[in-house]
Amino acid sequence: MKIVVLKFGGTSVGTIERIKKVSEIVKNYVKKRYSVIVVCSAMSGSTNELIKKSKEISNNFSDAEYDVLVSSGEQVSCSLIAGRLVHLGVKSRSWTAWQVPIFTENKHKFSRINQINKSNLWNYLKSGGVPIVTGFQGVNRNERITTIGRGGSDSTAIMLAKFFKADKCIIFTDVEGIFTTDPNKLKSAKKIKVISYEEMLEMASLGAKVMQPESIQDARLNKINIEVKSSFKKKSGTLITKRKNIINNKIITGISSTQSDAKVTLVGVKDKPGIAASIFKPLSKNSINVDMVVQNISANGRETDLTFTIKNEDLNKTKKIVNENKDINFKKLIFDRNVSKISIIGVGMVTTPGVTFRMFQALANQKINIQVISTSEIKISVLVDKKNIKKAISALHKEFKLDR
Ligand code: ADP
Ligand code: ASP
Ligand code: MG
Repeated sequence: MKIVVLKFGGTSVGTIERIKKVSEIVKNYVKKRYSVIVVCSAMSGSTNELIKKSKEISNNFSDAEYDVLVSSGEQVSCSLIAGRLVHLGVKSRSWTAWQVPIFTENKHKFSRINQINKSNLWNYLKSGGVPIVTGFQGVNRNERITTIGRGGSDSTAIMLAKFFKADKCIIFTDVEGIFTTDPNKLKSAKKIKVISYEEMLEMASLGAKVMQPESIQDARLNKINIEVKSSFKKKSGTLITKRKNIINNKIITGISSTQSDAKVTLVGVKDKPGIAASIFKPLSKNSINVDMVVQNISANGRETDLTFTIKNEDLNKTKKIVNENKDINFKKLIFDRNVSKISIIGVGMVTTPGVTFRMFQALANQKINIQVISTSEIKISVLVDKKNIKKAISALHKEFKLDR
């Protein structure tokens, strides 16, 4: 049996017309004698609408009920595809996660898939059927519905490919593949033919919404090659694979940016050993993820200014926690929601000196001020004023010759 997992994202099933088109794509794989497992997201916009409803009910909506609510969008799109395939004469039916079942960890909202029972889907595949499986959702050992984080249908597809040892895992989306930067933000962005898991993971974690970061971790761990392509145009896409499979002569592979960061500065913090730990401990206890950090010692050596970034949505909680923290003393708390993190990513920078300088110079030439810097082996990130995002991406794209 040649198994292929086909995943369709929200825009790909955003309208009835699109669902009809997607069903044709599925039918074509059946004609090519593949055993097809389809994974589908909710119709575009519908998950956001459900989340909005939960917020209208309560600003402290139960996590378990959140999962029941927001996973419902996937049930709609899956049944519509299955219904269309039946209409086209293809044997098909929808499967929600508990029916498969797809098991996750116990936690809600950001759970992870850890087991998929194969027998039900397997028997259905063997009978020539095309199962249409709801992405994004699972069931935990307490028999409660869970979800696996925004964009999680990507993970569902990759985990199904793992458990069924699929020949192919194809992610159909609304762009032609992975680009050097978001093609909807920069016209000169170029499609990347092949990209390593490591680079894709950085690009996704640093803001490229095209793949859920956790799904790339799953793919890397399980050595699953992923093809990302358009459900709108019949064109070759991008292959995400092992670094070994790639001959790449570019220093930088891609550029990502974030939209939802906030910067927090504690001015005049009494400088003593353990002060940073006292600030960050209660934040981490409250699941607030601190990203970039910079600390400046004042001229008198007794005080320090400490700046860090968090997700915008965590800002109010962070202000409260910092203000109520009795273990620290500071003069003023300043925050800024109008910041964006721009990152350049590429395995090529490991062996190429001078990349940091070129990045900073290119931004300086555009008079863009760098507020915070962080680096890892294969990426450099800088925090800039949000109004400079476009200018910065465009300058860096040119500097590292990504538009060629
Ligand atoms: P889907 O609904 O198919 O899961 P998403 O909206 O989650 O699709 O992801 C696709 C979007 O990701 C594109 O429309 C594009 O704007 C955005 N994107 C951001 N960075 C990139 C990139 N480097 N390459 C391709 N698309 C990107
Ligand atoms: N529908 C879910 C979301 O909007 C899952 C997904 O699209 O992959 O996040
Ligand atoms: Mg997505």
